[in-house]
Amino acid sequence: MSSEVFQDEAVILEVRNWQTADKYAVCFCRDHGKVPFIAYGAAYPKSTSGRLVQPFAHLRLTLMPGRRVATLRSCEFVEMPSAMDIEGMAYGTIIAEAVEQLLGDEEPQQAVFELVLSAFGLLRERNKRLVTDSTLLKLLSLCGFTPLLDHCTTCGRPMDADGYFSPVQGGFLCQDCSLEHDLPLSVEDRQLMETLLTLDFSQPAHFTVRGKELMEVEKIIYRFLTFQTDRPLRSLDFLAQLKQATS
Ligand SMILES: [Zn+2]
Repeated sequence: MSSEVFQDEAVILEVRNWQTADKYAVCFCRDHGKVPFIAYGAAYPKSTSGRLVQPFAHLRLTLMPGRRVATLRSCEFVEMPSAMDIEGMAYGTIIAEAVEQLLGDEEPQQAVFELVLSAFGLLRERNKRLVTDSTLLKLLSLCGFTPLLDHCTTCGRPMDADGYFSPVQGGFLCQDCSLEHDLPLSVEDRQLMETLLTLDFSQPAHFTVRGKELMEVEKIIYRFLTFQTDRPLRSLDFLAQLKQATS
């Protein structure tokens, strides 16, 4: 970590209480990538930084780099956050956790910053589940894990019939090449994955999905993500509990 105080535009991924008066947060900065920091005094009710440093907030931060975590010097809103319901927060937390797991500290990636920023905005306006699925696929792709869907990743045969997805190979496997633990991938699933991967977040088109394809594609996304990060997302449990409580 550099030792100079710096200012950057950031989205907040995670906020936790720290000691009695402080908060620990992780943000993703436009030019500095993922940066964990401590906001001293932020747990006090009258603290400005405590009020501003909230999950999914879009801020301008001044940070003092430290040995392991940075220290927050000051912050201000880039845009005032609009309200997000609890379901939006649950999905936002999944996106934030995926970013935290896939990217190391201070690996700047403007495209990831833009993606997360627009995803948090779209969670307030559009179908949260589809926004999240699309964001996770785009994120995997930006991190170098674009699912390979055109040809069988073992024999090279073009995908012209239903087959399987291999998280290990990161792509399609035909009927002949599939192994026991692969996930079903139909021609329709592939179409949905491509729609989600290429969805334009500045003007997201409306499209319809069927439950079967959506469930199969989500299985693929989460298994593929877990394979890349080595551990399942904790925030998925919260979403499952929320769904149980509200169904
Ligand atoms: Zn094959």
